[in-house]
Amino acid sequence: MTGALYIHIPFCRRRCGYCDFYSTVCADESIQSATVERIIQQAELIAERFSPTLSSVYIGGGTPSALPLPILERLFDALGRLFTLSAECEVTVEANPETSGEAFLRFLKTTPVNRLSLGIQSFDDRVLQLLGRDSSRRTALKAVERAAANGPARLNFDFIGEIPGVPASLTACDIRTAASFRPSHISVYALSVPEGSALEKRLAGREISSCVEEAFNEAAAFGYERYEISNCALPGGESRHNLAYWRMEPFWGCGPSASGTFPNETGRVCRREGVSPLEAFLSAEPEKSWTEEILTPRDLLFETVMMGCRLKEGIALDDFYHKTGRVLRDAAPKTVARALKAGLFREENGRFLPTAEGWRWLNRFLVDFLSELDSTL
Ligand code: SF4
Repeated sequence: MTGALYIHIPFCRRRCGYCDFYSTVCADESIQSATVERIIQQAELIAERFSPTLSSVYIGGGTPSALPLPILERLFDALGRLFTLSAECEVTVEANPETSGEAFLRFLKTTPVNRLSLGIQSFDDRVLQLLGRDSSRRTALKAVERAAANGPARLNFDFIGEIPGVPASLTACDIRTAASFRPSHISVYALSVPEGSALEKRLAGREISSCVEEAFNEAAAFGYERYEISNCALPGGESRHNLAYWRMEPFWGCGPSASGTFPNETGRVCRREGVSPLEAFLSAEPEKSWTEEILTPRDLLFETVMMGCRLKEGIALDDFYHKTGRVLRDAAPKTVARALKAGLFREENGRFLPTAEGWRWLNRFLVDFLSELDSTL
């Protein structure tokens, strides 16, 4: 079986105010090392059971670049021993500006990593402070300069948009700066603020005056195509790993909270999630360090719609039928007909495709789709 592998490194130097990924602040090397050993044991179980050929590997988190290099080296050695990588395998590692120095970039050259994803978020000091980031404009610019000069050929820079009180012109300026380094890929995610968080209090009373669409329009002037609701790329620079998620291709996850979705031996689609928090992950037997469930037909169908509608390429209708056993239009006929009539989607060459307007109203469409789907079950 061919598929994608995600490795979750659950350590950060500090927690950012908006982040909902699982990670913990821990600089204890014995705990970091034990965690990577447990991740390797999970990878061994995946290799034994599925013998997959990997089309992509993504080492994210958390902050993989915050790990000591010998611990990262141990991880790469194990992955090389356990898995066959396809000829075109995309191997991404995430890093933050303050932990992606020359030594880290030199180390990457000794590994199969061919893509680096830098969490920039903004080049503006006030915004970085507001978000609770460790970096500054100076460290962020240094990091992109270093990565462009000495990093892997394929780069992604991550940004956050739709921050209350931050004008669209500032995000656009960030995108122009990023594009001048010609990364193959730029992500702009709309800020989501955890309820009851300190960040929510800091942002109280500020209005959202920008939208990510404006940032993507800016990137388009530099040749970047918005191929997913939150991502754009130069031609050929799309994230193959993330495409595997959005297309609901098989993927496996290792690490606390890392999820995977793949067909089991009987062809049913399984969802697996690494147990968290870290203490529970480390104390569980490797075989019990995931929770596993079979996706219900309803959940599989809805997830396939939810993920596929994020993509500009939309959903291939015959593939949808093959995966879910249902015709997309029949699953929620009124919602689909309404969305087509309103120009939120169009059907073309056997695909169900979102329009720019469809992306703007995607959440509303998905709520209606699910509600109609549930009413017919
Ligand atoms: S560094 Fe990244 S993973 Fe860690 S808390 Fe901040 S946003 Fe989340």
